[in-house]
Parts: sequence; C-alpha cells; structure tokens
Amino acid sequence: MLTWIELKADHVKHNVQVFSALAGKEKLAFVLKSNAYGHGLKEIYEALKSENPAWLAVNYVDEGVMLRTLGFKGRLLVVGPFVPEDISQAFKNKLEMLVGHKEGLSAWLKGEVKPEIHIEFDTGMGRQGFRPAEADDIAARLESDKKLVRGVCMHFANVEDVTEFEYANVQMARFDTVYKVFTGRGFKVIAHAASSAAALILEGSRFDLMRVGISTYGFWPSQATKISYKHLHGALIDLKPVLSWRTQITSTSNVPAGEYIGYGCTYKTRHAMRIAVLPVGYFEGYPRIASGSEAYVLIHGERCPIVGRICMNMMMVDITDISGKSNVGDTATMIGGDGKEYIAASDVAGWSETIHYELVTRLHPSIERKLI
Ligand SMILES: *Cc1c(COP(=O)(O)O)cnc(C)c1O
Repeated sequence: MLTWIELKADHVKHNVQVFSALAGKEKLAFVLKSNAYGHGLKEIYEALKSENPAWLAVNYVDEGVMLRTLGFKGRLLVVGPFVPEDISQAFKNKLEMLVGHKEGLSAWLKGEVKPEIHIEFDTGMGRQGFRPAEADDIAARLESDKKLVRGVCMHFANVEDVTEFEYANVQMARFDTVYKVFTGRGFKVIAHAASSAAALILEGSRFDLMRVGISTYGFWPSQATKISYKHLHGALIDLKPVLSWRTQITSTSNVPAGEYIGYGCTYKTRHAMRIAVLPVGYFEGYPRIASGSEAYVLIHGERCPIVGRICMNMMMVDITDISGKSNVGDTATMIGGDGKEYIAASDVAGWSETIHYELVTRLHPSIERKLI
C-alpha cells in the first residue's frame, strides 16, 4: 500500500462516551457527513455502532441512504440542502430533513409522500433557514401536517472563533421566540442548535439535541473552544484523535549541494542532502500551499521537513539527519504519532492556511482506511 489511513475504533467509542456522559445519549446526533469528516463513513459507522447511537446526522440524502444500507436503524437527520427529487428517497429511508427555505417547504407540502422534518431558522448565520419573523406564517402553513414536524433548529455563526458569546446569545434569544411560536401553536417539537463547540462550552445551547461533528473524531473545534472550556471547567475534557495518515518511502537519493528540488526550483540545497520521495501529494489531500512552510513528516520518530513544492502525487522530504537508518519501505507519518513526536491535523492545517475541518474532509476517499 502506498498510503493509508489508520482509524482507532476505541478512540471513536471513547469520544462518543465522553459526549454521552456530558449530555445523555438520546440528546446526541453524531455527524457523519462528508465521508465522516474524511475519515471514512463505513469505517466510522462500524466503529460507532456498538455504542448504539440514538441519532446520526449527515449532509446529503444519499449519505443517509448509505447509513441505512449499512444497517443503521436509529433516527437520521439530513442537515444539508436538498432538491425536490430527494424527498421521496428521504421518505423511503425514514430520513428526517431540515427544511429552511420556501422552495423546499413548497416541494415538501406538495409531495406525494412526506418524510418527517425539522424547520430551520436563520437566527444570524446567513445561510439556510427562515427568518425568525416568519415563524408564525410557517407554523400556520404546517398546521395540518403538525405530526410530521419533529423539530425546530438553528446553526451558530460565531462560537468557534471567539471566547465571548454575545452573538451566540443574540442568536439564542431569536431562536427562543421561534420555539415559543411553534410550541404555542401546539407543535410537539424538539429544539436543537449546538454543534461540537456550543455543546462543549455553551450549556444553555444544548436544548434537546446536539449535532456533534468534529469532536466525534477527537478534535477540539478550535483553539478558542479549548481555551473557553478550560476557563469554564478548570481542566480539559479528554478527546482522543481517531485518525493517523501514513505512507512509505518509495525512493531515496543523494543530492549534492547547490541543486534544486521540485517544480519551480523553489528549493536549493545548501549542502549535500539525502532526499526521500513519499507517494503523497495534493491529489491525496496534502495541501500544496504547505510547500515552503515549516511542514514536516515523521520518520523513525524524527521530524523530516518537506522540501520543494508538493506535487500532485508526491512530495520530497529531507532525511539527511536520519540517512543511516531510513530506507525505501520505511513508514512516514503525515498526521499522527511516531515515537515521541505527534503531528496533529491542526498542525498540517496551520501550515496550509486552513482549518483541520477542511484538511481532514479532503483526504481522498480512495486512500485505504484501516480500523485498528
Ligand atoms: C456540520 C454541522 C454540524 C457539526 O459541526 P461540528 O462543528 O463539526 O460539530 C452541526 N450542525 C450542522 C447544521 C452542520 O452542518
């Protein structure tokens, strides 16, 4: 195998248990969208199913159908956009959909079959969702389908990036009015708003259900969330990263001083170097923009800097310092631990001017995933 992703099943279970202890299983929807945040939908479902999650959430109807095919029998929430053709699929597979725009609502109202729905309100995210002021109108239009409306929900815009929650509180106040409109009209709805960050640090946002994505995989949503949590609770909660990404050296070479390495001749050797080629590039999901940063991989527990530009399917790393002990076939780690060293997904994201969410969801689906 040229490159592979290792997934620690016990870490998935651990993270699920951490949240279950925090909030109770019935109140948690683990989010498995985007190929389970790039980890691998099938493998993560396999690791998680013994925990008997009450709810799972995905972005697309297709992803929900896939989870049904894999055998999931619990409640399944589709949080992303849909087109009218998706409605009958959702119904057939007992998926609950978020409806947050008038086209979607009209299509649903006109549909021959009606899956259960949750009405989404835009309380300040500026994405999907009805305006809070429309709540009474929307509720009136749903009067005869009351039983099929299972929830009202919203999404926070500004929890991960800050350590104060003024805007989140504004959003919650608006949500509160919406919830009162629906319950006031006799709808038996649950309320949900929180994703990982809010679930961790905004107790008042937990309501009846939390949609936990990134932290299922053992990541803090952001540095700010981590700081806020510690500030609130004195200590951190123990989240365990699930994923490691590894490859093997496919060739090595000795390069004299004064030679260039890679496209654009951006890197010139200052002394004789030993270079290893790794069969991983931006196609596989290692961002090209990390070229020229302090990015490194781990080989035999040592940091080996990436030199020159990252190619489509290869990168070159400096193994001069460990040339005596590194050979073709040796393992290199892009994300994960090796000896005393650890590269977090957020480290690679930092070298790549992005966030760990984007980094992991872009790990190519063709890379083999191994549950260990
Ligand atoms: C992705 C998503 C989540 C999960 O967010 P995390 O920050 O990964 O926990 C929750 N709700 C909605 C609507 C989402 O799209």
